[in-house]
Amino acid sequence: MEFSDRDVLDEVEIRHLLIEHVGHRCCWGSRPARTWKITSIEDCNVYVGTLETFIEERDTILKKEPYDGGKIDGRDKGPVLGVWELDLRSEFPMLFVPEKEVMVKIPHSEITEKCLDCEGRGEAPCPTCNAGQQHGFYKANQMTRCSVCHGRGLLAHQDGSDSVCGMCNGQGMLPCIACASRGLVTCQTCNGCGSLLAQSTAHVRWKTLTARKVSATTGAASVPDEVFHRAQGVQLCNIQAYQCTPAFFADSYP
Ligand SMILES: [Zn+2]
Ligand SMILES: [Zn+2]
Ligand SMILES: [Zn+2]
Repeated sequence: MEFSDRDVLDEVEIRHLLIEHVGHRCCWGSRPARTWKITSIEDCNVYVGTLETFIEERDTILKKEPYDGGKIDGRDKGPVLGVWELDLRSEFPMLFVPEKEVMVKIPHSEITEKCLDCEGRGEAPCPTCNAGQQHGFYKANQMTRCSVCHGRGLLAHQDGSDSVCGMCNGQGMLPCIACASRGLVTCQTCNGCGSLLAQSTAHVRWKTLTARKVSATTGAASVPDEVFHRAQGVQLCNIQAYQCTPAFFADSYP
């Protein structure tokens, strides 16, 4: 490399940079920076190589929601494309953006299926009063004993009189709080529809992976490479001589 056309620091500038640096530290003296003799000035050329790799990842997510009738975009409307066959050019970000993510519905991928949680019934045995019952088998009108009057229907008072229990209205029994003693509750999975609509969605992510390599030459060559890479020195002056344009590989992206 030729450096004839770039600035070289002189002694005054070097002392100025050092004194400025020392000035930021409360207990550092500036005498060495002001008075010590500078015997030589060495250039340290550093080459920084950056490899940026721009990648795209795609996968398919299957989403299910309650299906209560209505039109579906199914296989009869057209072919279902594979996740890498989808034309997503309108979603493409600028090259080398740090990250972008989109969710795109895959056309014609909708399909209806019976809800397995309720065997397509839309209702399931109440887990409170019919716990552990098979689908289609349940007992209605199951009551529990009133905990306020202990099933008497009456409340005893200190003067010997009784009054009707307000909790159970004198019945002594209470209906199931979960299902009002119907014995059935609405299926949470299909929201009572009995059917589910399954749809495939493409989850697409773009990102840039960056790897950096720093290497030093000339003056710094007297310092072993691995020491130089680990060093956490303070940079007082940085003159950038040349910067290469990024390399593009035309066949690596559409
Ligand atoms: Zn119940
Ligand atoms: Zn009661
Ligand atoms: Zn269901």
